[in-house]
Amino acid sequence: MKILFFGPNGSGKGTQGKIVKEKFGIPHIETGVIFRENISGGTDLGKKAKGYIDRGELVPDSITIPMILNRLKEDDCKSGWLLDGFPRNLTQAQELDKALGLERIDVDVIIEMLLDRQIAKNRIMGRRLCVNDNNHPNNIFIDAIKPDGESCRVCGGELKSRTDDQDEEAIDQRHNIYYDNETGTMAGVNYYKDLSIRKKRRFPDHRSGWQTWRKRSHGRTFVQTWWPDLMI
Ligand code: ADP
Repeated sequence: MKILFFGPNGSGKGTQGKIVKEKFGIPHIETGVIFRENISGGTDLGKKAKGYIDRGELVPDSITIPMILNRLKEDDCKSGWLLDGFPRNLTQAQELDKALGLERIDVDVIIEMLLDRQIAKNRIMGRRLCVNDNNHPNNIFIDAIKPDGESCRVCGGELKSRTDDQDEEAIDQRHNIYYDNETGTMAGVNYYKDLSIRKKRRFPDHRSGWQTWRKRSHGRTFVQTWWPDLMI
């Protein structure tokens, strides 16, 4: 199963991705996590990426695209993967499509999570990361997942916040990139949407597709686009 995961920053891709990863036994490849691991490990890649991440800008394509395309060639990706945070602009979407096309690899499922921009911003500012597992959900503004005092509500671990999550300007910049449908992430979403519609027309039983289902999340309608048998 090869899955692309789109959604505005703060929509919960990491949390949902962990569930999907466990359900399908595939690696959950989170671009932002790879960068943060490199930053805390003091690697050259981390040093190059840090300034961009702190400002809420994308790390340049010349760094990000080969990093992810090489990651997809690793052994654990043979039976599938879940890409979370890539592609994040039109160029990345086109380059991914080209690279997969050369290997005759098809994306099976594309998921888009939709969330109001202001709600996403509040979620980002309230979220806290557990040092044991950054996908343990903790958010000081959401009752259902409020931390246990100063500790992770799942495992009791220490909680931290990301510097780019506490900087409103950086958050706005990240969302400007996400919602940009000329060259930003939405342009990448639309690229795959068009591709999926065209494939479906050419091959009526083609598996890739878009489905929408609505569920209530914290009192608000949360719309997700999902392939039906992936429902969790
Ligand atoms: P969020 O979704 O909350 O913005 P992420 O962990 O996905 O958090 O990303 C954090 C930062 O890492 C981004 O703001 C950006 O600087 C960098 N980054 C993540 N994915 C990409 C990508 N595909 N291309 C370039 N930079 C990226």
